[in-house]
Amino acid sequence: MQDNVRVRFAPSPTGGLHLGGVRTVLFNYLFARQNGGKFILRIEDTDQTRYVPGAEEYIQDCLKWCGIVPDEGPEQGGPYGPYRQSERKAMYRDYAERLVHDGYAYYAFDTPEELDQKRKEVPNFQYGHAFRKEMRNSLSLPHEEVRQLIESGTPYVIRIRMPEDETVTFTDLIRGEVSFQTSQSDDKVLLKADGMPTYHLAVVVDDYLMKITHAFRGEEWLPSAPVHLLLWKYLGWEEEMPRWAHLPLILKPDGNGKLSKRDGARLGFPVYAMNWTDPASGELTPGFREIGFLPEAFINMLAMLGWNDGTDQEIFSVDELVGRFSLGRVNKAGAKFDYEKAKWFNTEWIKKLEGPKLTQLVAIELRKAGVEVSDDQQLSTVIELVKDRCHLLPDFVAQSAYFFRAPDTYDLGAVKPKWTDAKEEFFKAFSGLLLSNKGLSAQELEEKFKEMTQERGFKIGDVMLPYRIMLVGGKFGPAVFDITRLIGEDEAVSRINKALEAIKS
Ligand code: GLU
Repeated sequence: MQDNVRVRFAPSPTGGLHLGGVRTVLFNYLFARQNGGKFILRIEDTDQTRYVPGAEEYIQDCLKWCGIVPDEGPEQGGPYGPYRQSERKAMYRDYAERLVHDGYAYYAFDTPEELDQKRKEVPNFQYGHAFRKEMRNSLSLPHEEVRQLIESGTPYVIRIRMPEDETVTFTDLIRGEVSFQTSQSDDKVLLKADGMPTYHLAVVVDDYLMKITHAFRGEEWLPSAPVHLLLWKYLGWEEEMPRWAHLPLILKPDGNGKLSKRDGARLGFPVYAMNWTDPASGELTPGFREIGFLPEAFINMLAMLGWNDGTDQEIFSVDELVGRFSLGRVNKAGAKFDYEKAKWFNTEWIKKLEGPKLTQLVAIELRKAGVEVSDDQQLSTVIELVKDRCHLLPDFVAQSAYFFRAPDTYDLGAVKPKWTDAKEEFFKAFSGLLLSNKGLSAQELEEKFKEMTQERGFKIGDVMLPYRIMLVGGKFGPAVFDITRLIGEDEAVSRINKALEAIKS
């Protein structure tokens, strides 16, 4: 247990939430709960050009669906707010100016056209130690000119002055010691011409002001780490720097690169937590929630992408994960995404989930498909009968709609060619038996059915398959006498009659 743990999830509201983002949320959250700490949601919306309306609400909804409620955040508030960076705009400039004052950063006046021109002239141009003297900035221009440019309101950005050839080293909680050469990074912009900080400045200032103790984020942010480390150092906050953990990437099923939204579309599975509709293009990207995942299964599956507890156990509730999770057991290597395995987690959680919650979710699915269910008790009995066959929530529609309404179509291919008057007589007699012996158990019904089969010289299979098709429309479903019991004798007889018409037509 570590004291005063404060961790954060810091998404930029630019679109749908990738499953890798939710895994970052989860690992942060587990670590906070394990240590009696706080989990903070901070919205990193300083890049106005990438801001997408609705994306923040969507992120908050995804967290709610997953059952992960931040201790502090834009909705919850908290002592270190505001928790949206755009609302903290005024806080950042002083830090950027301080860096300029101390010689760690500088003003740069280059116009977009000048930068483009330079990029044309120099292949792979980097604004850094090699070229900064050739550009228009407070390191290359005379002091007086810089003063005049600023006073006359010339737009400028503030850039970090990356050291020419230093090694920056830190200890990552997953990767161990990681080193970078400062010459590899350009002089990143810290404060933009509109006064907004860039991600690099804002993330450091806010992690400091919000007293973040541990920063867990995706591996794609590793290349930014040296810039952040230097900023912590240059701002004199090295002692308070959070411990970093860069989480392994989630890879395409074949292991070739990072899993993208496009892979999901190509291979037919969701990559986002929930459905996301791009407000500009109207394009809908499917989500795990809408495809029929339980949040418990989604979370469990994500926890196992890159982590295990050292045993063979794979099914974990969030509470169990809080007890078992350890960063030390997170793999360095990327984790391949396997959709069949993801569905397996869902199947297991469907089997595990207790009564009313599943009943409610299945009732919603049935309603979406136009099947109204008035009796919850009956629905939960149905669910128990079919749940082993359901991998995704919508599977319950196909597996159980026939309990609530007669089939519209019948799979009669195997029945019609072998149909005889004797079979019709059998079903008429069986209907009579049902109506005059109401209330028999499924087992008693089966016995009666078998007796009647023998008396009339049929093999059981001759009439059992047609009976199933009469009740459910196809060759599927649980034991046929369980179905009879549940729908009741009158409904069973009415379905027999309806199907007899279909067979003869
Ligand atoms: N705003 C960054 C993102 O969108 C946050 C990265 C970090 O956690 O430092 O993922």
